[in-house]
Amino acid sequence: MSGYDVDLFVIGGGSGGVRAARIAAEHGARVMLAEEYRVGGTCVIRGCVPKKLLVYASRFRAEFEDAAGYGWTLPQSAFDWPTLIANKDREIARLEAAYTATLAKAGVRIIKSRAVLADPHTVRLANGERVRAAYVLISTGGAPSYGDPIPGLEHAISSNEAFQLPQLPTHVVIQGGGYIAVEFAGIFAGLGAQVTLVYRGENILRGFDDDVRQHVRMDMEKHGVRVLTGCRIAAIEQAAGARFSARLSSGNELAADRVMFAIGRRPNVAKMGLEEAGVEIAKNGGVAVDEYSRTSVPNIYGIGDVTNRVNLTPVAIREGHAFADTVFGGKPTAVDHANVPTAVFSDPEIGAVGLTEAQARARLEQTDIYRAMFKPLKATLSGRDTTVLLKLVVDGMSGRVVGCHIVGEGAAEMVQLAAIAVTMGATKADFDATMALHPTIAEELVTMRQRSASYARAAAE
Ligand code: NDP
Repeated sequence: MSGYDVDLFVIGGGSGGVRAARIAAEHGARVMLAEEYRVGGTCVIRGCVPKKLLVYASRFRAEFEDAAGYGWTLPQSAFDWPTLIANKDREIARLEAAYTATLAKAGVRIIKSRAVLADPHTVRLANGERVRAAYVLISTGGAPSYGDPIPGLEHAISSNEAFQLPQLPTHVVIQGGGYIAVEFAGIFAGLGAQVTLVYRGENILRGFDDDVRQHVRMDMEKHGVRVLTGCRIAAIEQAAGARFSARLSSGNELAADRVMFAIGRRPNVAKMGLEEAGVEIAKNGGVAVDEYSRTSVPNIYGIGDVTNRVNLTPVAIREGHAFADTVFGGKPTAVDHANVPTAVFSDPEIGAVGLTEAQARARLEQTDIYRAMFKPLKATLSGRDTTVLLKLVVDGMSGRVVGCHIVGEGAAEMVQLAAIAVTMGATKADFDATMALHPTIAEELVTMRQRSASYARAAAE
């Protein structure tokens, strides 16, 4: 691709961009990647990875409490937030260095700068330098959204700041009922803070199976998180010292030393030169792409959260890899967005793949439901007041398992494996033919013989 400075210019060094750059370079392309913040992107620097470390930290409280029933006497435990954050930061720096080294080894040139499109084949760096590229990949991810302006919004933090707080707050109010809100509710509560979740709808975790939503809310409340539904934060006022008062639409006032918003993320498309280059933006605010992640401009592609398809790291990585194979590997590859497993590392944890009961009942002739709810063995001696939920959604006509939903310890790990079976098209009979592994929680997936419910599709109105 002579006439160009590089074959590929990647804008954004998150999980998707890094994978695309490396694979394209391995296919022989001359690749440059620009990142304005830190290589690794949201997932590595201020998302999935540090979040999971904080989740691990928060779960020790329950482990310490549970130990007593198993005969352990432990000294009084104490938690130090600055130690956790410093250790987390060290691990994130190590990962960032590893990502950078991997790219360098593959021959990718990394530019620590903001980069925008000047025209379809020209990228402009912050210092004014221009790079001509045969192909451009937009992988700029997303950023926290704060919704419509309200008085005192400047006092609210997002997950970005939550990872870097100097002290653990004692009272936290979190607005939102999605992934980030429930995960941080579990983190802060587990570490010892009083947490109130404020959610505008009827029940948290819209989009998840209704049994899952019910179960998680019940368990969160048992574990001390206050969940207020049907209201929003209308204003945040600064009170004495570093304290705030969140005024709700219901009229209630909540005192807090931190007010966090986790109300979704928006694609990073602003001031990128996209419009000028002719790149269309979809109705959902993301870069519009086809199944090969190609935008409305033939040499410009978009992957990951900036396209607002399925905003999960493994999906961005798969899209980045597919893009590189398509454009530089001579192997056109589309990404299948069906049956993407997902987890919420809340307390209790959720793992899910495939259709919810409501989705199945709307789409299938007949839907069969298998459901088990029980106290896990571990909770017997610890005396912990908790139950696990396992649910299979089955296509009653073909027998295929089209959905698997689990709430409880290890749910994410279990669902990653169940997702293989669901992706392969396993039937309920295949699950039944699988020998149980005893004593586990997961064995219930292959021993649920009794249907809990069966529904014929409701006739169209
Ligand atoms: P989500 O889309 O998961 O949830 C947003 C929440 O905020 C919903 O409860 C929504 O309510 C509510 N909301 C939206 N707008 C407003 C508003 N204006 N006022 C009040 N409430 C509002 O977003 P998150 O911020 O939690 O996370 C962003 C994305 O990041 C996730 O969707 C996911 O893709 C990814 N993520 C994945 C994780 C994982 O895989 N474990 C962890 C963290 C993030 P309603 O339901 O009524 O629309």
